[in-house]
Amino acid sequence: MQQLNLNLGSVLRIMWQDKQTRDEWEPRLSAVQRLGYQLELESVARGLRRITTVNVPPQTFELEIERFNDKKLIFVPIKRVKKYQGFAHRHNETDGNDPDSYVFGVVCKELTHGRMAKSLLIAGDHRSFGEMLGYPECCREFFHREFVQNGIPDLPWCQGLNTPAVEHTDTYRKIQGSAYLNMMLRYWSVRLAPHLPCSYRCASSVAWVESVWLPLAQSIDAVAADDLLRLLSMPTQFDVNKGVAIITTPLFKGVASSIPCAIRHVLDFSTEAF
Ligand SMILES: [Zn+2]
Repeated sequence: MQQLNLNLGSVLRIMWQDKQTRDEWEPRLSAVQRLGYQLELESVARGLRRITTVNVPPQTFELEIERFNDKKLIFVPIKRVKKYQGFAHRHNETDGNDPDSYVFGVVCKELTHGRMAKSLLIAGDHRSFGEMLGYPECCREFFHREFVQNGIPDLPWCQGLNTPAVEHTDTYRKIQGSAYLNMMLRYWSVRLAPHLPCSYRCASSVAWVESVWLPLAQSIDAVAADDLLRLLSMPTQFDVNKGVAIITTPLFKGVASSIPCAIRHVLDFSTEAF
């Protein structure tokens, strides 16, 4: 994929289909987003994996640290990064005088795990870092190849390339996959799998979601977990061109920063076969 040298900054918008949809779904979306954050922390607190990554804003630092302490979690800061909206394709570092920033780091139960994760990330060893996060091996290799080696900053299209297509050209794919692995709404923190699956049908990821993430989500907030699955099961179109993706669902259209591709690429996702 040919990419342009563009830096559009972070863009994140959501446009609901109509007022009624917005009134109904805005609070439900907020509950789904809260669930996403709880899932990250609870998965570590309950010993289901060793670490997770977090961004702590300076404005609510005390609150966040207390939240970690309540769960007996340790925060290991890694670096101060510029604040962004949606999904970070890369971290822009800044310093402690910048109020428009986060402290990026990991939370863990064992300090040695947090420190080890920090060293791995600083050394650029994303594969071992992904292993500490509990990600499946095939997906760690996929991330290393596409994000690190090929320099593709956002991976929904690459996940689509690894998924058998019902119809396709070089720049269009119609695919069917698992709702568990729908990553096209993650800009709004609507995701069930915590990682970027190597395809929309990755068997290791489906098994991990089924055995760990879905039961955990249901135990935290069954209503929000149900809404999350509903959102991920919607037919979703990912349409990207020159750094901006338009994501279309039956409930809303969203705009988010994505791949600075020179030509438009479109992915049509549905869960029909699943
Ligand atoms: Zn995989």
